[in-house]
Amino acid sequence: MIIIPLGVASATPTSIRHLPSLALWREGSVHLFDCGENAQMRMLQAGLKRSKIENIFISHFDVDHYSGLIGLIATLQLQRREKPLTIVGPKGIQEYVEWNFRFAKIDLNFEIHFVEVEEGFESQKVIDEEEYYVEARPLNHTTFCMGFRFQEKDKPGKVDAKKAEALGITDDEQFKALKAGEDVELEDGKVIKSYDIVGHPRPGDSFAYITDTKYCPNSVKLAMNTNILYHEATFSDTLADKAAETGHSTSSDAARVATEAQTKLLVVGHFSARYTNPFVLLREARAKFFPAWLASELRPIYTNPALEKGIVKQRVYMKEIDENAEAGSSYKGKSFDKRGKGRGDSDSSKRFRKRRSKPDTRSQRSRDDSQERRKRRPERIQSERSERSEEYTPRPPKHITPRTPFDNYDRF
Ligand SMILES: [Zn+2]
Repeated sequence: MIIIPLGVASATPTSIRHLPSLALWREGSVHLFDCGENAQMRMLQAGLKRSKIENIFISHFDVDHYSGLIGLIATLQLQRREKPLTIVGPKGIQEYVEWNFRFAKIDLNFEIHFVEVEEGFESQKVIDEEEYYVEARPLNHTTFCMGFRFQEKDKPGKVDAKKAEALGITDDEQFKALKAGEDVELEDGKVIKSYDIVGHPRPGDSFAYITDTKYCPNSVKLAMNTNILYHEATFSDTLADKAAETGHSTSSDAARVATEAQTKLLVVGHFSARYTNPFVLLREARAKFFPAWLASELRPIYTNPALEKGIVKQRVYMKEIDENAEAGSSYKGKSFDKRGKGRGDSDSSKRFRKRRSKPDTRSQRSRDDSQERRKRRPERIQSERSERSEEYTPRPPKHITPRTPFDNYDRF
């Protein structure tokens, strides 16, 4: 299971953050949680095929969470999709989608299967497939809003092939029956019990998507023992009043849910536009629940990196602002384009900028001196200064990431 945040802003997008949307990749299929404006473009940039979308889950009817839905479906139509699509959302989602396409006089050539959830429910399995199911529960927001848990069903245990052969099993059908939990009777009448050959069932991966809510017990129930919990952290603790007023969470609320639910990794997102640097939110979350990370757009998070790394290849990288100055930048002959390359790099010692000399005690005196000198020889000073400005090289970008093992996405 791979989780790829496509938009981590809250209601207002910023120059670097898009409206809420998150993709879950599993066994070649994509499941979309919320569909803000830009979601379809962000999918392309993340390296996800739109044709692979199987389900779309809309948490609630705040415009930022579903504004990309019609555009995305229109694209699927242009791509001549034939496979049916499932859309899960609050009651009214079917009317909204159908009205839009009636209005645009588009007759969709693929079927949309709607699952509408009405207010007042306690818990509902909105999707139940052979290998996974999705559970929804109501959250606590200013409008009716749902959270989701995507749960893979337990996988059958591994078959001990050597032991099975030793017991006399050779047929593929017999192997399959044993794996499915059935006992097999051999020709000589000997019965081979399934549990002798097959190991314990392996638990499936799980993911919870909880956004636009205050702290509520249903969040904990959805997130219980998940591999990854995506929780909104719109505000920092200093704005707890505003969070309560608008039906949102602080980063501490997110950490509280993660702690109570014993999730393995907390990913916070849905940042208010006021935080140009959301690390303040991460710091607060980590103070209460350590395996926490900031959702970073297009950056995949794996439940099993050994198997999943490299499957989804990001197509677009955010250009760091400092790179704009790259042409002129020749800091120690190196450019700083590759993020993460600095750490553990053999050349990393070169990257430390020289300590600036402290303002010295003679500064007052020297300033007086220099003023005098300027009066005396203005031309020479002027030329000195222009020389100095040519030597000027921009500083390398600061790495503000705290250095802890959890900074490394590949761990998850
Ligand atoms: Zn929102």
